[in-house]
Amino acid sequence: MFNLILFGPPGAGKGTQAVKIAEKFGWKHVSTGDILRAEVNQGTPLGLKVKSVMDAGHLVSDELLIEIMESVFVNNNTVKGFVLDGFPRTLNQAQELDKMLLRHGEVVSLVLALEVDEEELVSRLLKRALDQGRKDDGEEVIKNRLVQYHHHTKPLIDYYTDQNLYQEVHGVGTIEDIFSQLCLQIKP
Ligand code: AMP
Repeated sequence: MFNLILFGPPGAGKGTQAVKIAEKFGWKHVSTGDILRAEVNQGTPLGLKVKSVMDAGHLVSDELLIEIMESVFVNNNTVKGFVLDGFPRTLNQAQELDKMLLRHGEVVSLVLALEVDEEELVSRLLKRALDQGRKDDGEEVIKNRLVQYHHHTKPLIDYYTDQNLYQEVHGVGTIEDIFSQLCLQIKP
């Protein structure tokens, strides 16, 4: 099984590229943001619990995310690969992911990061807020999401670099060009 983590700050284009990679290789795309938004939209107990956290641009608890991922793995044990988009986002999540994969005889295969500078990220997120009406893309919330990224998620770069799993791709350009650069790094 190929376990790919698509890494990068909010607005880097992970979602767009993850869909394309999953389609090309026949793997399962897992966006924790999409999973959580679906819970919120359906008004489930879990959705009600996480709504205010998400609206504020903060991170949902590790415990909850790990529970969600555990059930994703259990329910998709026949797939040939995963494209993880938006998970892991904390060191604790990364360590728990490793443990979870190990229990299934698996490891993280590759971490591909989309590199985009901060100014470009903010302008993309503001545009997305207008286009999609995403509540978590207001200016104040965007700032929060970037702070969360720098504080909690960026340390994962060292974690995966130390394991020789981390590769960066320039995330500015056309969708197709970036996709080609990503695909060059993926050797299933
Ligand atoms: P995303 O669409 O990936 O930007 O996720 C939207 C929101 O969902 C984030 O701002 C967090 O509130 C929450 N979320 C998604 N994935 C995670 C995660 N791995 N850990 C904590 N919170 C998450």
